[in-house]
Amino acid sequence: MLRPEAGTTADPLLALANYRSELGAWCDASPETLALATSPTPDYDDRVDHLRRFMGELYDAGWSRYGWPTGVGGLGGTIIHRATMWEVLATRGVPGMALFEHLEVLAPTLVHHGPTDFIAQVLPDFLSGRKVWSQGFSEPGSGSDLASVRTTATTVDDGYTVTGHKIWTSWSKYASWCLVLARTGSADSRHRGLTALVVDLESPGVDVRPITQANGTDELAEVFFDEVYVPSRRMLAGPGDGWRVAMHILSHERGTLAWFKHLFFYHHLHGCTDFADTRHDSALGNAFLDLTAVTAAAHKGLIAHADGDPLGPHAAFTKLLLCESEQATNDWILAVDPDLAGGIQTDEVALRRQEYLFSRIVTVYGGSQQMQLDTIAKQILQLP
Ligand SMILES: Cc1cc2nc3c(=O)[nH]c(=O)nc-3n(C[C@H](O)[C@H](O)[C@H](O)COP(=O)(O)OP(=O)(O)OC[C@H]3O[C@@H](n4cnc5c(N)ncnc54)[C@H](O)[C@@H]3O)c2cc1C
Repeated sequence: MLRPEAGTTADPLLALANYRSELGAWCDASPETLALATSPTPDYDDRVDHLRRFMGELYDAGWSRYGWPTGVGGLGGTIIHRATMWEVLATRGVPGMALFEHLEVLAPTLVHHGPTDFIAQVLPDFLSGRKVWSQGFSEPGSGSDLASVRTTATTVDDGYTVTGHKIWTSWSKYASWCLVLARTGSADSRHRGLTALVVDLESPGVDVRPITQANGTDELAEVFFDEVYVPSRRMLAGPGDGWRVAMHILSHERGTLAWFKHLFFYHHLHGCTDFADTRHDSALGNAFLDLTAVTAAAHKGLIAHADGDPLGPHAAFTKLLLCESEQATNDWILAVDPDLAGGIQTDEVALRRQEYLFSRIVTVYGGSQQMQLDTIAKQILQLP
């Protein structure tokens, strides 16, 4: 088995260069493993299954353990290792992270705010695709106004019972764990009365109901909790610290995740250039320009994170740019691919159609475009 030398080399740049080239060599030597992630698989359940097996192979070979602390199952290094891993995979035709985006949304916060013994127990299964995670923040009536969350966590012996209703919880259908934002304070305590708890979705009292989207996949779900017991050791930070935990997560979901997501858009654009002619040059140029802006903003976020500086409200800029770029990429693909709007049903076209339809709703997850503009206006520009 090839092993990266990263983590054992004193010079971090050399370590990363070794990591990149050895991962590339491993991909070239493992075509069947790579095919698990690169073969076009429009059926979403099958795609999830293949991707989970692919993550298992990456974990067993050591690649996905870099970028995570040694005390919780990683092999050391920073987010730059993780960025490098997905960059190498994108250049080998892996089309996206799908449900493993949560490795870049939830896992950094689990490691930062979670109890070390619990995180050391669960992170290896997360990295290896054996256990999937979901994020239970939004509720009917509590999306943009997240501080109004009504799901409650009531204190019992050595823990809490959680009761409430979450919605739009991505990938809950596949998930074993859900990071839930619940109210432990009074009904009007707003952001001060929230606590972040990790709920085992196989517990009695949990009901996951998938929601089928316009693109035919059911990656979103409603999740109902009826007095679900959660031990205290599955709390992040402390009681009443849920808002701090949520903001840490959102800074990743709006900021650093952009690096991981936008890598694939370059390859989606490249993949369709064969269909294009000179009439499409101007729109292609604009789509590449949009992507370049994301690269610049997301790179800044990666470096800040690797240096231990949270992005805070500045992540809103990156999320705005990312959404515009995802839509411009898919608009261009729709313009050049004659099959996309028509009835042709190859696996490749079916996947491009799913991607196009999904790109219409990306301006909503992680906070809508209007809420990103609101954050920029109030928290960065200090407008009234
Ligand atoms: C693909 C996808 C994946 C998602 N995944 C998850 C997940 O895994 N976990 C999770 O918890 N949630 C998830 N969500 C939910 C998402 O976070 C919410 O949809 C989002 O925060 C908006 O909340 P809402 O749907 O309740 O809309 P609302 O808050 O009702 O907003 C409706 C409209 O009103 C506008 N609006 C609201 N308030 C203001 C204001 N003060 N100023 C200006 N405009 C305003 C909004 O911009 C929006 O256009 C996901 C959503 C999508 C689309």
